[in-house]
Amino acid sequence: MDASNPKIELGPRAVCQRCVLPESKPDIWLDGAGICNICRDFDKQNNGHEQVKFLESDFIKILNQNKSKGKYDCLIMCSGGKDSTAALYYMKKRYKLNPLAFTFDHGFETEDALENIRNAVDILGVDFILFKSDFMKEMFAQIVRTGSKAVLCHPCSIWYMGVTFDMAARFDIPMIVAGWTKGQATHQPLMSRCGCNAHQAEFVSMSKATQAFLDQYTQENPKYKDFPRSMEEVLTLAKKRHKAMVVSPHWFLPMDAGVYVEILKKELKWKFPRLSYPGLSTNCYLNFISVHNSMKHFGYTHYHVEMSKMVRASLLSRQEALKLLEINFDHGVLQHVMQKFDSVKGLK
Ligand SMILES: [Zn+2]
Repeated sequence: MDASNPKIELGPRAVCQRCVLPESKPDIWLDGAGICNICRDFDKQNNGHEQVKFLESDFIKILNQNKSKGKYDCLIMCSGGKDSTAALYYMKKRYKLNPLAFTFDHGFETEDALENIRNAVDILGVDFILFKSDFMKEMFAQIVRTGSKAVLCHPCSIWYMGVTFDMAARFDIPMIVAGWTKGQATHQPLMSRCGCNAHQAEFVSMSKATQAFLDQYTQENPKYKDFPRSMEEVLTLAKKRHKAMVVSPHWFLPMDAGVYVEILKKELKWKFPRLSYPGLSTNCYLNFISVHNSMKHFGYTHYHVEMSKMVRASLLSRQEALKLLEINFDHGVLQHVMQKFDSVKGLK
């Protein structure tokens, strides 16, 4: 990556008039009316009808079936963002469960995110595990420094989910609760953290690039020889060891983020991070490099995919989505993150 000149030139990409995906062949193309193939497929699949909505009563049924089986009722994946902090809040306060909060720090978490988590677990009085490891650093460095098209967030979510399942197994916890929004939901009962289902048309090129990278890199580097190549592999391995289901309260609750953010601010001292992309989100430092690279290589990011889903489902307006997706973060952050890789040796 050329971090000395980090300005992203988008060029004259046309954007779908209905969602926020830009034309990006071969995966995304626009028809004569300026509507993308993903929106057209959505219409065909839904045949003009609304998608089946999940109700809170469905969620309560799931909770009742799984709670009170051990010390903890659920393991909560806490990133410090509004959605996962709300998930933690709901489990403890709304459903009166005993959660174990779990945060994963690959060395690139921001102080703002960690502070939000510490405040939330202190105020709610829940047990908390901070898992910190630099295991992935060489792999990340390889992607970043060689200009690979592999999407940083993909191997990261593969690793993250693997570690999360291990944690659930270690404490014998039957439910993993994520803060995934409706835009991140793909297939139940589990999907990747970023909603990146390799089989979805919007992710084909990104997934192929990540797969090609992983195939070669894990073969050449003994340290990563057992690294799973896909989310499916993580799931298969996890199921052999311990059965834990993954759910998100956001799939079932009608509340939108504006409502729960106010509660979190008031009750858990939660704050928006100073640096964010997309707007009003909380992400690690690597996210900014991942966004930069995805825009450069593919013309869009997994956030465009998530928000497009929400726009199609009328959960977000196209205008709001376009605004949240504007790239206006200070590019000095790219330089800052690149420096973190300066000491990593052994690049091929
Ligand atoms: Zn579209």
